[in-house]
Amino acid sequence: MAKILDSLKISQALEEEIKTKLKGLPKLCLGSVVIGDNYSAGVYQSSQRKVALRLGVEYRPIKLAGDVSFDKFKIEIGKLNKDKSVTGIILNKPFPLRWKDSEVFSLLDERKDVEGMHPVNLGKLFIGDTLGASDLLCISPTVLSVIALLGETKVNLTAKKVTIVGFSSLIGKPLALFLGSEFATVSITHIETYKAGDLPAYLEGADIVISAVGKPDLIKGDWIKKGAIVIDVGTGQKNGKLCGDVEFNVAKGKASYITPVPAGTGKLTTMFLYNNLILTAKMAGL
Ligand code: NAP
Repeated sequence: MAKILDSLKISQALEEEIKTKLKGLPKLCLGSVVIGDNYSAGVYQSSQRKVALRLGVEYRPIKLAGDVSFDKFKIEIGKLNKDKSVTGIILNKPFPLRWKDSEVFSLLDERKDVEGMHPVNLGKLFIGDTLGASDLLCISPTVLSVIALLGETKVNLTAKKVTIVGFSSLIGKPLALFLGSEFATVSITHIETYKAGDLPAYLEGADIVISAVGKPDLIKGDWIKKGAIVIDVGTGQKNGKLCGDVEFNVAKGKASYITPVPAGTGKLTTMFLYNNLILTAKMAGL
């Protein structure tokens, strides 16, 4: 039976660290932009709000209509970029289908980009020494959360077979960079792997599975190799409840470690988001 990888302990320790760092700073403000109504984005925003309250950070949600035009969106982001009272900005996914992530994140002032998604910041991550990256580079909080949870298992990543499900610029792609630079053997799988029926084969051979899709029970418990580490990043909705990508009840009987949803990666991601907010404050010279 798998050990449950609970993020609470790491999350609490990080919260204390953040509180100490905040003591020397003026009140910071996170601008959090969301477009339309989305269950997962709503859950994430509510977690952002709660943590901001505990940390004494101003939380400024900006909700735009689901059918907002790109031009109007651009104007709103421009205002936040210029607003000196806003320390950092998060653009919560999902965006309207026809919008490209690269065009959306390029609108941000790269020094206020708390998720490290501006092309310049992703470029720095790409060419840099990822795990020892510059103190002033924001890296996707979700990626930092996964790396921290893997650290809890004390696994030596060298030559470990890792299968990542999902290939987004926020999670799958930067994670592959991190893990590859630690000499893990990384397979990246995505929608076409699934359509080709190849997902089970990639998972059955994996020592570590990281899933970031957002489709409940996409990953069948039977596909998990005995003793594998399973990190479930996905946040979907099943019967009105938050639910991960992995069929948890079956997978926990095969894995050595597994993250639950909720109470897995999510809490920790929010905490790393505020740790990044401090980096943006430093970039602004505060
Ligand atoms: P995204 O941009 O939509 O990426 C999802 C990825 O999964 C895409 O590469 C997509 O491929 C792929 N995919 C879709 N259906 C698939 C299938 N049946 N089999 C294999 N791959 C499939 O989303 P994201 O921003 O990376 O977020 C992914 C999930 O993580 C969401 O549920 C989100 O809410 C959650 N999330 C969690 C945290 C946390 O800390 N726990 C933080 C952020 C996000 P195509 O694009 O080609 O369809």
